[in-house]
Parts: sequence; structure tokens; C-alpha cells
Amino acid sequence: MDMIETKAVHTAALEERTIKPKVMPLYQTSAFSFSSLEELEGYYEGNGTYLYSRTANPNTDALGQTVATMEGAPRGVAASSGMAAILAGILSVAKAGDHVVAAQDVYGGTFHLLKDELARMGIQVHFADFAYTSEIEQILIDYPEVKLIFSESITNPFLRVEDIEVLVQLKKHYGVKVMIDNTFATPYTINPYNSGADLVAHSATKYLGGHSDVTAGVLVGDAVLIADAEDRIVNLGMNLSPFEAWLTLRGIKTLAVRMKAQTANAKAIAAFLEGKAQVWYPGKGAIVTFALPETADVSKFFSSLGWIKIVPTLAGVETTVSYPYGTSHRALSDEEKVKIGVTKQVIRLSAGIEGTEDILAQLSAAFN
Ligand SMILES: *Cc1c(COP(=O)(O)O)cnc(C)c1O
Repeated sequence: MDMIETKAVHTAALEERTIKPKVMPLYQTSAFSFSSLEELEGYYEGNGTYLYSRTANPNTDALGQTVATMEGAPRGVAASSGMAAILAGILSVAKAGDHVVAAQDVYGGTFHLLKDELARMGIQVHFADFAYTSEIEQILIDYPEVKLIFSESITNPFLRVEDIEVLVQLKKHYGVKVMIDNTFATPYTINPYNSGADLVAHSATKYLGGHSDVTAGVLVGDAVLIADAEDRIVNLGMNLSPFEAWLTLRGIKTLAVRMKAQTANAKAIAAFLEGKAQVWYPGKGAIVTFALPETADVSKFFSSLGWIKIVPTLAGVETTVSYPYGTSHRALSDEEKVKIGVTKQVIRLSAGIEGTEDILAQLSAAFN
């Protein structure tokens, strides 16, 4: 190796690494190398080596396994976004001709996926008000094609806490599977797999990552279903990049301390808002939804929040507010918005990790 062109390409790769880093390094590589055909054969015999990052990468594998462990599930897989994790989970259970029953108040992006994309794939979705078990059960009776019940552990924006035990009873009775989007609750607050759900999906873009700097998803659950979902992720190219997985894992290390601080702040904020606004806070999690009185100038309130910024997402370490009427539920007609209670007065707050007194002082200033 004498020429600069060759040295530039091969020097680093030739170095035999015996370094033992304290934290998992980033395997920012699209593929892995082999020094013999026997070694390559070993990959196909399952010796635990890697071949190509779309099919598997140490960083994305570590993310899937970490969240699985936290949820008490045997297996997990990372995906390029929360939407990709949800799609892979649904496709591991349902194929063309099958039906799904879903909660009508799911996240807007999920609603579009279920309503528009699954229909194109020949999977029909029935939406029901999951506050009424009889509505779900009637659909299970009317449509034996239903293979999956889908809901969220804590819904948006009114933070309804799903009764997962009830869904699991239905699942046992009707021989279907249950999948829960656990994004708002996180494994710190609720563990749907331990309650009997088959699949648990996360938008790691929110609390798992926690710093608003990654878009990622994770699906955990039953080992057979996750193996199938893994194939869907590989074949449909819904894999997560190694760097996004690495960043998400870095965020996850502080999930518990963040959730502890954010939940404590959310409780204090909910108590502060009591009497000043109509408040929805289920006693767990770090999101607080409230409706200003009819007489209040909502626009003025938003512009008086100082360092509490208007951001159309949630779960970061900064306290932020969002406006469901103008963002997440924008696509709904005025009539539909009113029906589900998303009026012009409704504000969703995501509690951060700042000092509690500072947050309350800033809110207090806006109310004044
Ligand atoms: C954000 C979100 C999603 C979608 O996740 P992405 O990472 O944006 O694809 C799904 N479900 C819930 C509850 C969410 O909040």
C-alpha cells in the first residue's frame, strides 16, 4: 500500500480494533465485511455477525432490544419512525382481506395510516369509541375478519387512559391480537405487554429519544410477531439509520429521570390550572390539556407565554404548548372538531424538566 489513493481508503479499515469503549459505539456503516467465504457462510448459519445495515445493524438491534427489555417483552425492533413501527406491527398480524378495529381518537398520523394506506393494501379498518366496550365487541361480532384491536395507552389530546385489560379479555374471547401505541405513557408509566397486549409500538421521536432531535420508532412484543414485523421493515425499507438508533439509545438512558421530573411538573401545572381553565390530566404522564374560558383571548395567551414555545410535537425536555385545533386536528371539519371537543380554546401542554416555579411563574404571567 504505497499510493495516497489507497492509503486514504484502507488505512483505518486495516486497524484491528481491541479498544473497549464504555458506551456502545456507532456502527455508521451500510454493510459489514468478511475475510473468508467460511465466515460469510457463518452469517447465514446464524453466528450473530452482520451483513447489510438495512437487514440488521448493531445500533438498531440494541435499540429494539433495550425497549423490549424495558417493556418486559421478549423481542423488539427499531423502525424509521413511529408510523413505520405501527405499520410493521399491523402488517405482522393483518394481510389483504383482514380487518382491524381501532380507537377513533388515535393520533392523526395513525388515523391517516389506518384509513387511507391500509385500505390501499386491502385491510379494512373499523373505528369505534373505545370508551364503550360494547361498540368494540359489536364490531368483533359483526366482522369475523377482524384480526387486530388497535388503541393507544393514553390518547391525544384529552388523555383518555385505555383499559388494556378489557381489550385483552376481548382478544381472548374472539381470538384476535391487541396492539397498543404506548408513546404518551412510555414504559416508565404503563407496560401494555405485561397486561397482555401482543404488540407495543412507540414513536421514539417523543419521550424515548426525549430531546426532539430524532425521528424513530420501536415495536416490541411477541417474538413470532416481531420476527414477522422485522421482515416487513427490511422488505419495505422502513429501517432506522444507525445514528438515529444511537441517539435514541443515548436519550433512553435518562428516560426514567426525565419522566420523573416531567410528571412532577405536569402534576404541579394541572393543580395550578385548576379553577383557571378546564383541565384534563389523568394523574400520570407529562401531558396536560386545558381549555381556556370562552371569554379568553387564546391568541393573546399563546403570545404571552415567553420561553414556553408553540411547538407541534411533545415530550422534549423543554416545556412547550401545542394547538390541536390548528395543527394535529386541523384536517377535521369544524363539526368533527366540536364533536370530539377540540375547540379553539383547547391547549395541549408538554411539561419539560425546568424548575417547577419557573414554569408556573411563566404560566401565571400569561394568565395575567
Ligand atoms: C408522534 C406520534 C406517532 C407518530 O410517530 P412519528 O415518529 O412521527 O412517525 C404515533 N403515535 C403517537 C401517539 C404519536 O404521538
